[in-house]
Amino acid sequence: METRQYGTHVGVLAGWRFCPRCAAAVTLEGGRAECETCGFVHYANTAPAVSALIVDGERRVLLARRAYEPDAGLWDTPGGFLEEGEDPAGGLRRELLEETGLTIEIGDFVGMFTDRYGDGPGATAVLILMWEATITDGEPRAADDVSELRWFARDALPTENELAFRWLGPALRSSASHSRSTCSRKQGGREAAALQGLVYAQGQSPDAPKGRQAGPSVGEGEGEASNKTSCN
Ligand SMILES: [Zn+2]
Repeated sequence: METRQYGTHVGVLAGWRFCPRCAAAVTLEGGRAECETCGFVHYANTAPAVSALIVDGERRVLLARRAYEPDAGLWDTPGGFLEEGEDPAGGLRRELLEETGLTIEIGDFVGMFTDRYGDGPGATAVLILMWEATITDGEPRAADDVSELRWFARDALPTENELAFRWLGPALRSSASHSRSTCSRKQGGREAAALQGLVYAQGQSPDAPKGRQAGPSVGEGEGEASNKTSCN
């Protein structure tokens, strides 16, 4: 499989000048920062994040409007960065509780995606792991870094310009089309395989600004689900 370079070699380390341990000058080279005074080395690793494709009995998807930058005001799937040493499933449950007040049951693995967290030179590279999930307890209530939660039918999702980040649009479109043709819940492995490689599938440079319009206006997302009876 081709190894794609996403993000930048120095996203994490952009602007680093001094060692965080001893304050001597650091040397930046090849995605690592090294302090020759105390021996401290830091690698610019991709940051792991988790995300939930929350579906209801009609296969609608619960999306969260981002309250803060990057991509404030745009629609995202709920989730977030793992804390140090945190189990991915535990991190996903924690984020969902923080952002939506919901307790979830984690279902099929949807896929893994790479992106950058914002557009600036210091935007870190992110690896997103996404699972389907269903609500087992609670009513959706926006909190933390989410300003609004809304259910969207698969055929009435926000437009590309209304969606946060670069990875999310292709992931949702693929998931929706797959859901129409066959029930995705039965196809976890194949679906995950099909979704890999979707990042930057449109030939978009990861370093190029996304160029979306400011001030998203999102219409009513409660359209009639086309696959209401096909997947339960
Ligand atoms: Zn040092």
